[in-house]
Amino acid sequence: MLELLPPPPTDPLWDLTYEFGTDDRPERLNLVLGVYRDQTGTTPVMAAVREAEIRLAERSESKEYRGLSGNAAFNRSLLDLVLGPGPGGPADRAAAVQTVAGSGALRLLADLIWRTRPGTTVWVSDPAYVNHRPILEAAGLKVRPYGWRDAEGGFDTAGVLRELREARRDDVVLLQGCCHNPTGVDPLLDDWEALAESAVRGGWVPFVDLAYHGLGDGLDADLLATRMLAERVPEMLIAVSCSKNFGLYSDRVGCAIVLGASARSVRHAETALQNAARTLYSMPPEHGAAVVTTILEDEGLRAAWRAELDVMRGRIMANRADLVAHLSALGRTEQARSLARQKGMFSMLPLTPQQMLRLRRQYAVYGTTSGRINIAGIPANRIPRLAQGIAAVLDT
Ligand code: PMP
Repeated sequence: MLELLPPPPTDPLWDLTYEFGTDDRPERLNLVLGVYRDQTGTTPVMAAVREAEIRLAERSESKEYRGLSGNAAFNRSLLDLVLGPGPGGPADRAAAVQTVAGSGALRLLADLIWRTRPGTTVWVSDPAYVNHRPILEAAGLKVRPYGWRDAEGGFDTAGVLRELREARRDDVVLLQGCCHNPTGVDPLLDDWEALAESAVRGGWVPFVDLAYHGLGDGLDADLLATRMLAERVPEMLIAVSCSKNFGLYSDRVGCAIVLGASARSVRHAETALQNAARTLYSMPPEHGAAVVTTILEDEGLRAAWRAELDVMRGRIMANRADLVAHLSALGRTEQARSLARQKGMFSMLPLTPQQMLRLRRQYAVYGTTSGRINIAGIPANRIPRLAQGIAAVLDT
């Protein structure tokens, strides 16, 4: 049977990572994957996570199955974290289902859309996170791209709003809540307000992907747009990842949130999500969700986690500022200016695929062919040489 399988495409990001693994130049720098690294190049276990794991190891008595929605306390904590705590807010008309990380949430919500209306069009930014289109199409949905950046490299408010005027009622628009991957370009709060107005007027449903909250302007600031949308629109879908902001990449922790106009529709959506999970993997893994819950439910651990997250964010911001300063010093002011406006773990270098290849060949710097680099992956002492490399390939 397997002889019948035609050669399948491979994942370009992981291909580059494997190529990096075979590069024996000591100065090689992997800026391909979106993983936070500290100054030593390590992706650390956060201290709050380690402490939560110790507590869990000491007190856990059973590994019995959880329910179909996973860990209920985790789901409650994530609803509070994302939508804001307390009664009277949008969390009152929402349900959350624990998922296999952010990717699992995207897929489960895509399945929910398909189960609701198989012909639904999902609007996806261009450029988008590499896995957005494949996940949506794998769930059977139609994808339609919409622009993201203007000619100056900022958010294209007028252009996006113009395109979304064509969105039909019950179309879904995928938005990244903060730290847009791959561009680092986010709408400003006024732009978000205009997007909310467009959704209410046009009847399209926002589908917010949250993977980097806490790594842009701060945890609450990064959640502001999502919370504002949730206050304004009748229905909304949110895919939450705990991979980056808890450093739980390999534990695969996240959740799918649905907001509905009635308790009945929310209940139905939650059951549909459970049914989708049941046919894919039955139930999500418990460990990472238990770690996140232990942190969020304990005042001390929660404060320690937030402080650690602030340190990570500070390192990313310092790296970007330093790269901007070095590029400016090399006379690349235009490129420096557009990098300075970007936020979060990624930046998009204004380089062609050929220039990115040259950066890899001549400077051992691995970014994606589209020009995306992981700002959090640069050791501070490597920034001057990285800037020199960028400036040099810009001339070629
Ligand atoms: N959304 C975006 C925008 C991402 O960048 C990522 C990870 N790179 C994800 C979702 C999925 O993250 P994970 O499945 O590792 O939680």
